[in-house]
Amino acid sequence: MRIWVLAVMALALAGCYFGSPPGNMHSSSQGQEASLEAVAPGRGATSGTATQPAPWARTQGEVHSLPTVRGGKSRTNNAQPPAAPSLKVISRGDLTVPTVALTFDDGPHPEFTPRILRILATHKVRATFFVVGKMALAHPALVLAEHCSGHAVGNHTYNHFDLSQMAPEQVYQEWWTGAAALESVTGVAPRFCRPPGGNRNSTVVRSANTLGMTVVMWSDYAADSARPASADILRRALAKAGNGSIILLHDGIPETLEVLPDLIVGLKRKGFAFQTVAEMARHLQTQEVNF
Ligand SMILES: [Zn+2]
Repeated sequence: MRIWVLAVMALALAGCYFGSPPGNMHSSSQGQEASLEAVAPGRGATSGTATQPAPWARTQGEVHSLPTVRGGKSRTNNAQPPAAPSLKVISRGDLTVPTVALTFDDGPHPEFTPRILRILATHKVRATFFVVGKMALAHPALVLAEHCSGHAVGNHTYNHFDLSQMAPEQVYQEWWTGAAALESVTGVAPRFCRPPGGNRNSTVVRSANTLGMTVVMWSDYAADSARPASADILRRALAKAGNGSIILLHDGIPETLEVLPDLIVGLKRKGFAFQTVAEMARHLQTQEVNF
C-alpha cells in the first residue's frame, strides 16, 4: 500500500508525461470540452489523510433511485450561457454488443482508490470514476492516477449535494466548480457527469449539457452503498448484467472492493468486454430526453 501511494504521488508530480497532462489518454473529445476559465475554490488543498469512507455520500443517505421528474424551468443567468437545445442522458450502451462499463462513484478515497486501481490493472480493465470535485482537490494524485491509467474521469459535482433540490444557479455552480476541479488536476475538462444519487430534473440535465457534459446514469446497480454482503453485490450485479450495461459501484465501500475481482472475472466468463463510458458513448446515439 505504501509503495503504491508513493508511486501515485510520483505520477502526480510528474504528470502523465512529465508535466503535460495527456488530453488524449482516453477518448476525450477536445471539440466538446467545456470552456472553463477559472479554478474551483479550494485549489491547492493539501492531500488529506482521511481513512473513512466518503462521508458526503453516506451521511446524506444517498438513495440511487430516480425521483419523480418534475418540470424544471429553463433559466439562464448572467453566468450561464443559453441552454442546450436538447437534454442528453445515457443510461446504457449498445444493446447489440457484449460490453459493460464499470463506474465508481464518490471517490477519490485515499484508502480504497489505489486498491481499486490495482485490481483494474491486474485484470486489464478500464473503468470510469465519477469523482467529487472537492475530494479531487484534496487527493489530486489519485485522480491523476485514474486519468493516466486510461480510465475515464467524470464529474460527480463539487460538493455532492442533491441537485434536484437546488436552484438553477446553484446547480450550474456545482457542475461548473466540479468540472473546473477535475480540469485543474487532469488538464482535461470532463465530458461525462453523474448527479449525486442519480437525482435529476430538466435543470440538472440541461445545466450539465450546457457545460459540454453528457449525463450518465446506470442500468445495473447492486445497491453496494447500503453495504450488503459482498456475495450479494456479486450476485445482483451479475444477474443484471447485459449488453451495454452501465454498472454502478462505489469507491470507499469495503464489500465492493472485496468482491471486485470476482465481479470482473464473472463478467468476463459471461463474455463481456469492458469499456469506459467514453468508449461506450462513442458508438452510441445519445439519448434525447424530454421532461
Ligand atoms: Zn454519489
